[in-house]
Amino acid sequence: MSEKFQILYTTMKSKRIVTVAIIYLLLLVPVIYVLAQKYTVETVPNVRLRDASAYITDPNKLLDDDEYFELNSLLGALRDSLNIETAVVVLPSIEMDEYGSAREFANKLFNRWGLGDNELNNGLLILLITNEGEREIVFETGKGTEQVLTDGISKLIQTNEMVPWLKDGEYGKGLIAGVKEISKVIEGTSGLEEPAPKKRNYWPVIIYLVAGLIIIVAIDASRKSKVASSESPYKAAVNYDSLKGAGCVAAILFLPQFIIYFIYKEIAKETGKPAIDCEKCREKGTVKVTGEPVVKQQAIPGQDGMKEYKFVCSKCGFTHHELIPYAYVKPNTTSSSSSGTTVRSDSSSGGSWGGGSSGGGGASTRF
Ligand SMILES: [Zn+2]
Repeated sequence: MSEKFQILYTTMKSKRIVTVAIIYLLLLVPVIYVLAQKYTVETVPNVRLRDASAYITDPNKLLDDDEYFELNSLLGALRDSLNIETAVVVLPSIEMDEYGSAREFANKLFNRWGLGDNELNNGLLILLITNEGEREIVFETGKGTEQVLTDGISKLIQTNEMVPWLKDGEYGKGLIAGVKEISKVIEGTSGLEEPAPKKRNYWPVIIYLVAGLIIIVAIDASRKSKVASSESPYKAAVNYDSLKGAGCVAAILFLPQFIIYFIYKEIAKETGKPAIDCEKCREKGTVKVTGEPVVKQQAIPGQDGMKEYKFVCSKCGFTHHELIPYAYVKPNTTSSSSSGTTVRSDSSSGGSWGGGSSGGGGASTRF
């Protein structure tokens, strides 16, 4: 220390700067100390140790006396007639670096003080932090308390009954309103109702699944009828492939339905492609289309064209040429009518408050 200080000292251009700096630092220390009055679980005074009838810890006197006494008697009644042991802690600031969250601080304080009966676990800690930027109201409940004062209800009490007061700096009134509502909840006379979990809307998914299946079945049925109405096995083979494009698009858009339908067809042994038997060697299903078809007659608007397909037997090399009509397609119109099917993944937001802490449940609200 002294060695480092010596180096620092000698590098300073004059001794006066050091002296002035030290004086400034000394003047600032008490100011910094007051500003940084951050409580830790260990430094919060436990009033109960001094006074068995006191439920409120308010070391910085943030509540006025009337409110303090009214609140304290409400907390007394909460314990005597409703069997919930509550501690109210009002602090300007907590050592956030050490705890990460006000909930964690409350949880640690709850366990350090051991609120509630160790079998009934009927403890409740209400922590209020008041400094700008840290303002938060926290409930930490024991397991027993949580049975009657659920996390959802805790959150509702905070937002509906307390925050409107707390926002205006009316800490006493906010705490009194909150404790009164807690009493009502435990008595079963509170009008607050835990929000029912949002019902999921399955209709878009159902419509998507049904519509997709209908489209896939329709494409396949249309292909089947085309194949069935073909005058020759050669035309049938070409017609079988004619709806490939539409089939692929449908398969991509409705993949789950496509897979189901595909499995169904496999089970039903409905193997698709019509096999062509060879006219020459009489082998079954050896004749297949080869190469690209040659346009023999150009299609024009209103009149189909003709394409010549070449079929070859893989066994004996027998070749057959078949003329098959094709429909006119308007050039230059790259019709990309992508009927966007958006599937909503509606995730109903589950409450993230509550639970998680070893002391049981609770809730917190910043304001
Ligand atoms: Zn053959």
